[in-house]
Amino acid sequence: MNELNRRKFLIRSAAIVALSPSVLIGSRSAAASRVDPNDPQAKALSYVHQSSVEDSICANCQLYTGPVDADWGGCAIFPGKEVAAGGWCNAWVKKAG
Ligand code: SF4
Repeated sequence: MNELNRRKFLIRSAAIVALSPSVLIGSRSAAASRVDPNDPQAKALSYVHQSSVEDSICANCQLYTGPVDADWGGCAIFPGKEVAAGGWCNAWVKKAG
């Protein structure tokens, strides 16, 4: 699988998982650990805790599910884990609205 197809696969998989009611329930009730930037999936998406991309951080990404004012929150790409509100990965999509 080339890098572009892998990225599309990960994004589509995350969207499906994000729409799953069990994931939504689980994300509210389970204590989430933080994403390790050295985790293979995080590395594949170039995830970092501190964004270096202007105006692009997890907190303003469409896939971010954390509270607006929190330092860490959920992400549809990393179910059951938290990402830094100021983090970034190459699946970043501008939050609608
Ligand atoms: Fe998740 Fe978006 Fe942050 Fe990537 S940029 S880790 S998709 S919230």
